Amino acid sequence: MPPVETKQYDYIVIGGGSGGSGSARRAAGWYGAKTLIIERGAAGGTCVNVGCVPKKMTWNFATINETIEVGRHYGYDFPEHVKFDYTHFKKLRDSVVKRLNGAYERNWGREGIDLVHGKASFVEPKTIEVDLADGSGKVRYSAPHILIATGGRPIVPNVKGAEYGITSDGFFNDMEELPPKFAVVGAGYIAVELAGVMAAVGVETHMFLRGDTFLRKFDPMIQKTMTERYEASGVHLHKHFDGFKEVQLLRDGKGKDKLLRLIKNDGTEIEVNELLWAIGRAPEVEGLNLTIPGVKLNRAGHIIADEYQNTSVNGIYALGDVTGHAELTPVAIAAGRQLSSRLFGPPELKSAKISYENIPTVVFSHPEVGTTGLTEPEARERFGNDKVKIYRTRFTAMYYDPLPAEEKKKFPTEMKIVCVGPEEKIVGLHILGLGVGEMLQGFGVAIKMGATKQDFDSCIAIHPTSAEELVTLR
Ligand code: FAD
Ligand code: NDP
Repeated sequence: MPPVETKQYDYIVIGGGSGGSGSARRAAGWYGAKTLIIERGAAGGTCVNVGCVPKKMTWNFATINETIEVGRHYGYDFPEHVKFDYTHFKKLRDSVVKRLNGAYERNWGREGIDLVHGKASFVEPKTIEVDLADGSGKVRYSAPHILIATGGRPIVPNVKGAEYGITSDGFFNDMEELPPKFAVVGAGYIAVELAGVMAAVGVETHMFLRGDTFLRKFDPMIQKTMTERYEASGVHLHKHFDGFKEVQLLRDGKGKDKLLRLIKNDGTEIEVNELLWAIGRAPEVEGLNLTIPGVKLNRAGHIIADEYQNTSVNGIYALGDVTGHAELTPVAIAAGRQLSSRLFGPPELKSAKISYENIPTVVFSHPEVGTTGLTEPEARERFGNDKVKIYRTRFTAMYYDPLPAEEKKKFPTEMKIVCVGPEEKIVGLHILGLGVGEMLQGFGVAIKMGATKQDFDSCIAIHPTSAEELVTLR
C-alpha cells in the first residue's frame, strides 16, 4: 500500500453548520489562516437546512392564516375557506434553502476556505480522514488546530414502530402535504413551534407531553399562559403522557393517505395521519473516533468544552450543539468567531470567548415567546426571596380590539421583569404575545449592559405599541 498523502492546514473545521462556518470565516477571512471545512451534508448545517430557516418560513406561512382570521373582524370579506397550497409553499421553502446552500459555499470560496464534502473521522490524534461524499475514496488532512462543530440530530425513542413517525428533519425534508390529523410528542421548542404552525393552518393537532405544561425550562408564567393559549386555540393536549407501547402503520402514503395507530402504554389508542417525535436532540459524535485523540464526553454524550471551547485535548476544540451549551445558532456562530479570534487573531484577543449569560431567545410559537436571563424561580433561588422584585402585566394588544370579547381573551400579551437588589437590576425578562420576537433583541442589549428598572423607566415609551408596557410597568 502506498503511504496515504496527508494535506496540511492551519485549521480544520469538521462541520459546515452555524458554528463551523462562523469560525472558519473568521479564521480565513479575517486572519488569513489556511482553513478547511469538512461537511458531509448540505452547507449551512441544521439551521439552514432543517432548522431556523425553514421553520421561520413555515411560521410566516402559518401566521398569514392567523392574519386572515383577524382580518375578517376588521371587515375583510375573505371566503369562508381561504385556499392555500402547502405543496407550493414547500417547494418555495426548499428553493430558499438551496439558495442559502449556494450562498454559504460561495462565501467560503470568496474567503479562501477549502471545502471537502464527506464524512470526517480521526485516524490519528491530529489527522482527519474524510470518506468522500462522491464515493471517490478517502483523503487525509492534518492541522495543529481542529474544531469539532458537528451539531446534533433528533432523538427517536426506542418504541416499536417509532420509525413510522418523523422527526423535525422529516417534517422539513419529506412532508410534502399537510396531514389532516397530526400528533407531536414532546414539550420543548420544536414540539411547541411545529404543533403551533400545524394548528394555525387548520390541522387537527395533538400534543403528547409528560407534564401539565409545556416549555418547562421557561418561566412559569410562560408555561402556564402558553399551555392555556394552545388549548384555547384548539390544540388537543394529552398531559401526563407516559409513552407509546407501539406505533402501527395502517396505511402508507402522503398527507391524508398516511394513517398511523398510536397505542399508549395505558392501552388507549388514537389514529393520526402523521406523528412527529420532538423529544430532544443528541450530539453528533458517532463515527468521529474521538477515542483516538482522547476527546472526553459528558454523561449525555456531549463533548466537554470549557469556556474557551477547549476540549480535553490540546489543539482540539468543540462548540455549538455538539457541546450541549445553549443550542442556538447565534451562540454557535459567536463561539466560533471568538475561538478563531483567540487562535489566529492579534495578541489582545488571546483571551477572546463568549459570555453564556443573558442569551436572548425566542420560541416561534403562536404567539411568540421571548426570554432572557433568569426565570423567577431561578432568581429567587440564586438571590433569595427578599432580594427579588417582580413586575408583570397582562393585556390584549390593540390589534385584537375588533374581536368579540370572548375571542379576545384567547390572545393575551404577558410580560414579566425580574429584578434584584435595591437598585432593581434586571436579571430576567419574559414576554409573550404579538411581535415579541422582534421586541426582545433591543431589550436584550439593555439587559446585557446591566440595565436597572430605573433605566427602563427613564426611556420614553413608543406609543401605541405593546413594547411600551415594558418601560411603564408599575
Ligand atoms: P449544525 O448547524 O447542526 O452543523 C453541524 C454540521 O456538521 C452539519 O452540517 C453536519 O452535516 C456536519 N457533520 C456532522 N458530523 C460530521 C462528520 N463526521 N463529518 C463532516 N460533517 C459532519 N436556533 C436558533 O437560534 N433559532 C431558531 O429559530 C432555531 N430553530 C431551530 C429549529 C429546529 C427544527 C432545529 C432542529 C434547531 C433550531 N435551532 C434554532 C437550533 C440551531 O439550528 C442549532 O443550534 C445550530 O444549527 C447549531 O449549530 P452547529 O454549528 O453546532 O451545528
Ligand atoms: P428541548 O430540549 O427544547 O425539548 C425536548 C422536550 O422533549 C422536553 O420538553 C421534554 O419534555 C420532552 N421529552 C423528552 N423525552 C420525552 C419522552 N420520552 N416523551 C415525551 N416527551 C419527552 O428539545 P427540542 O428537540 O425541542 O429542541 C432542541 C434544541 O434546539 C432546543 O433546546 C433549542 O436550544 C434549539 N431550538 C431552538 C429554537 C429557537 O431558537 N426558536 C427552535 C427549535 C430548537 P419535559 O418537559 O417532560 O422534560
